[in-house]
Amino acid sequence: MKYVMKGNPETGKLNLPHLIVAQSYNCDYACIGCNAVGNGESINPRRMLKIVDDWRAYNMGDAIFHLKGGEPLMFEGIWDTVNHAACKGLYLFMTTSGSKVDQEAVKRLQGVYDKTDGQVIVSLDGSREEINALSRQRGSFETARSAIETLVESGVPVAWNYRVHRGNQEDIGDAIRLANELGVEQFNVLYHAQIRNRNGNLEVPDLEVILPQLERARNNRARDMLEWSVVDMIQRLGSGKYDCNGCTAGFRGFAYITPDGNVYSCPNTVSEKHRLGTIDDSFENLFENGKNLREVHKERLVCKGELEAATKDKEYQRKLDEEEELIKEKIAKTETTSEEREPIAVCFNRNY
Ligand code: SF4
Repeated sequence: MKYVMKGNPETGKLNLPHLIVAQSYNCDYACIGCNAVGNGESINPRRMLKIVDDWRAYNMGDAIFHLKGGEPLMFEGIWDTVNHAACKGLYLFMTTSGSKVDQEAVKRLQGVYDKTDGQVIVSLDGSREEINALSRQRGSFETARSAIETLVESGVPVAWNYRVHRGNQEDIGDAIRLANELGVEQFNVLYHAQIRNRNGNLEVPDLEVILPQLERARNNRARDMLEWSVVDMIQRLGSGKYDCNGCTAGFRGFAYITPDGNVYSCPNTVSEKHRLGTIDDSFENLFENGKNLREVHKERLVCKGELEAATKDKEYQRKLDEEEELIKEKIAKTETTSEEREPIAVCFNRNY
């Protein structure tokens, strides 16, 4: 299913509740800029089943249960967890490098997605090996490409997460072309990532380079895949139909659990200030604790989580401020007025 995280700023609720769990940060890759660094903690498999039960009990209607890591396909008890989530009627999302998507895994995922909807989100930062290797594990391009291909062929819904930095910013058009060929249903451009290269230089990409490629792709063949991407967001906000009130961090229905059992408002806001509590607290109490955080995330048009990280890095802060100015300028150029504006909050990163 295609998915963009949105919320209603008037109620402070996410449109579709979304729980993200990193059972552990174990991974067989060592990608540049990965922030999933822990000290070997993990949530035990029985506890994972209870988290699924609690999440199901908290949400009467549709809700997403999302595994990210580390590498979810290396989690202890992974198949019990995902089958349990699917049997409970939760949508299943899983963010993976594709490194463990072998025949057996594809068969099992096929079985799970026969029971529910959702996405397997494959992280891949280039349309070919030499580009992908600039930020991800060397030699991993073909593994990820083939994982996408096999999953799509097996009827598993697949999204592609593309972290942009200066080294791959001109490759986005080619990557979207490949995503189209492979049958990916959603392409996420993660352009706020605080990636430093192997020499330590900041690699925040240039939006002026990204936007024309997204515009071309959106006009040609990828409108659906790029819904609420930065270029689509500019068009939508410029249309005057929306009143965008910031991002969805701190919204009721959105939480991120880390391997040490802490719960935060978003995977991009892992800090004491954004800690909602622990897995021993009820979801009701966790979201009550998070309600004041919404103020922190209001009235900006770039990812506030990254912005928080930027307070410790002035160069990064300046880059994000520049991005936001550019987005505002572009919106102003297309802006039309409308009597009825839908109040909306949206995640500018689109995915995790
Ligand atoms: S924009 Fe950033 S901080 Fe806000 S919800 Fe998305 S990832 Fe989280």
